[in-house]
Amino acid sequence: AEVSPGATFGPPGDEYEIGKQLGNGAASRVFACRRLNTNEQLAVKAVDLRRLCLLGDLQDQMTRLDSEVGILHELRHERIVNLQGFYKTDNWYFLVMELVGGGELFDLIVRNKSLSESEARHIFLQLLEGVGYMHARGVLHRDLKPENILVAGSRPAEPPESGHNYDVKIADFGLSKAIGGGASLARTRVGTPQYWAPEVLDVQKRGGSYDQAADFWGLGAVLFVMLCGRYPFDGQKQALDDQIRTASYSMTGSRWRNISEAAKSLVRGLLRVNPVDRLSLDDCLSHPWVTGEPMPLPKRL
Ligand code: ADP
Ligand code: MG
Repeated sequence: AEVSPGATFGPPGDEYEIGKQLGNGAASRVFACRRLNTNEQLAVKAVDLRRLCLLGDLQDQMTRLDSEVGILHELRHERIVNLQGFYKTDNWYFLVMELVGGGELFDLIVRNKSLSESEARHIFLQLLEGVGYMHARGVLHRDLKPENILVAGSRPAEPPESGHNYDVKIADFGLSKAIGGGASLARTRVGTPQYWAPEVLDVQKRGGSYDQAADFWGLGAVLFVMLCGRYPFDGQKQALDDQIRTASYSMTGSRWRNISEAAKSLVRGLLRVNPVDRLSLDDCLSHPWVTGEPMPLPKRL
């Protein structure tokens, strides 16, 4: 059957009706949906297995998808989009999750040009909670960016009052690796990997792996975008990769002029090329921008 608004899926006796489309990726589409038994409004990510097939060995992909879904199923946290269940047919894999109605953080930033430091701090703290929780359970996100962070509640009227305390939830985690084997697919999915950490960029070449620090790079990039409404790295192909490998970004210009030194110091600490030097969860939690304590004065000679 077609997977489009109006269609149904699910086991006999517990079906879901597909509503309007919310987003899409290389092998998946996300729709609002309604659980017919309960009338609950939910969201469903429908993964097209025939397309998944084109992105690599299907059996391999399915195994990964199954294991990742198993992990995600265990994650229950206020700041993480809750996976409610999944359903497979010959051609589709349906991941049913809670509906997060306020749209992407990306759109919120674009609508407002940038967020105030206090709005950004409120969101950043929530991201730390969510990321801390999943890391403690051995789950890496690998694809933190404003498109994968959803704003709770209904879409606010524009322009939203300033100083609004938005609640956010992290979406699309883990799946970037499950669906399609990491870096190569991520490249086809997002076009330009603006948010990849240097070690993620080179993971195939080096044959290495990466760890939790990569998500803190992602948080640094998200913080950067919230504060100034621009990507930290925004070149084309090779130039972009070079910018990322050397962490060449700039915090100058009018948008940065009124941003506190504490905020800039946190961004710098997160966007460090060497994962070992990068700020950790604890470093973030005790950072002056996060705690609101004064920055230590620079040492004088
Ligand atoms: P992809 O792997 O294709 O990037 P995502 O899980 O990021 O898939 O979903 C794509 C888009 O669909 C998101 O950026 C968001 O706009 C929307 N979306 C995803 N999950 C939800 C949800 N639970 N509630 C509301 N919108 C969602
Ligand atoms: Mg996504």
